Amino acid sequence: MVFCNNCGEVVDKEAKFCQNCGNETSDMSDIQDMNENKSDQKLKKKSPATAAAINLIIAGLGFVYIKEYAKAILSFVFVVIVAIISGYGSILALLLVILWTYSETTKYNKKLA
Ligand SMILES: [Zn+2]
Repeated sequence: MVFCNNCGEVVDKEAKFCQNCGNETSDMSDIQDMNENKSDQKLKKKSPATAAAINLIIAGLGFVYIKEYAKAILSFVFVVIVAIISGYGSILALLLVILWTYSETTKYNKKLA
């Protein structure tokens, strides 16, 4: 069942215009649905644990997950530089990135709430 966006009257699905007020129906309701889907995706909360854990695949990937691309590159470069300077130090650097990602993801979720 389709409702008119203007007056709320029940409109035939095939009808392009509302019989009651003459408002164009089909296009408007389609656009509304698309906008609702988009905002749903934007409002999705991210798991801090997941964001932190995927840094183990590639350092900084956790920030890509929460769309913080600058921080992702910064984290990656940081871990690589530490790895070049001191091999074992990169484990500590990665741990820092993981903690940072966790806290930034928590902030990201708070912004949505
Ligand atoms: Zn109408």
